[in-house]
Amino acid sequence: MSVIVLGSVNMDVVLSVNTLPQAGETIAASAQNLYPGGKGANQAIASARCGAPTAFFGAVGDDDYGAVLAKNLQDNGIDTAGLKVLAGRRTGQASIYVSAAGENSIVILAGANHDFVFDEDGGPVPVPSAPAVRLAQFEMPLAAIKAFFDAPGAASGTRILNPAPALPDGRFLFDLSDILIVNQTELATYAGRPDAASSPEASIALARGLLSRDDQWVVVTLGADGLVAVGAGQEIFVAGLDTEVVDTTGAGDCFCGALAARLSASEPLRDALAFANAAAALAVSRRGAGPSMPTFEEVVARQA
Ligand code: ADP
Repeated sequence: MSVIVLGSVNMDVVLSVNTLPQAGETIAASAQNLYPGGKGANQAIASARCGAPTAFFGAVGDDDYGAVLAKNLQDNGIDTAGLKVLAGRRTGQASIYVSAAGENSIVILAGANHDFVFDEDGGPVPVPSAPAVRLAQFEMPLAAIKAFFDAPGAASGTRILNPAPALPDGRFLFDLSDILIVNQTELATYAGRPDAASSPEASIALARGLLSRDDQWVVVTLGADGLVAVGAGQEIFVAGLDTEVVDTTGAGDCFCGALAARLSASEPLRDALAFANAAAALAVSRRGAGPSMPTFEEVVARQA
């Protein structure tokens, strides 16, 4: 099976500053760097590098950033027939200030991402209908995600939803997914328990509350502690791997993409979760999001 990602694609514009600016303050930046980003694009790159035939559905504007980001996806071997170039729209952009102490503030312009719609029958981007591992996050219109998970053939594959950033209005999509992947902050938001303890035991209890079917799984990523997964009457715990942390940006995206890749190769869930945990540990040991995604061979070597 292949992996189909419906998701966001952004240019991350990173300005290095000494301290973050206060309201009304003008300060100097010491450097500017551009990095391909967006949760959807990061996840697609992780999936492709981990060896799965991967197709991407999303939207960019007809500007320079859009062309660079499309090429970056193609350079990673991703099928971009489903990537729309929207005339007169801006490509999604994240403006990120990073201070010398490593703190950041981020402003996201959703741009073309929020204008994505699947076309009706016969349009240039119809809803893909093949059985596949489908992966979506919440930086896209909820109606497009619903069409993606409701498409003919979708239920005979695996539908993975990473409902991030947390968007309580998107709860109706949980029923349409086979695997939900949340971090602890997102779990607390969806469970309506923002003050909940963040131990693995507490996460298991809250995750059970998100299950709506017997054949569904909820995976909670626990940062350095690894992950827990709960399904009907079952629990899987995978411990975090000891890692020298360089940059945690994109850890969750790497996890989702790597998991999708291994499930598309028919690996059992427990093994695919262990693989994704090792892939994400590698991603946090490297700078950047998209560029930090490991290859299949690198993850296998990390697990050895
Ligand atoms: P997000 O990036 O969405 O906030 P997490 O912080 O839970 O998600 O990280 C996702 C996954 O990345 C974890 O489940 C784990 O596999 C891996 N990971 C994150 N931080 C570390 C770390 N410090 N050491 C080892 N693995 C990590």
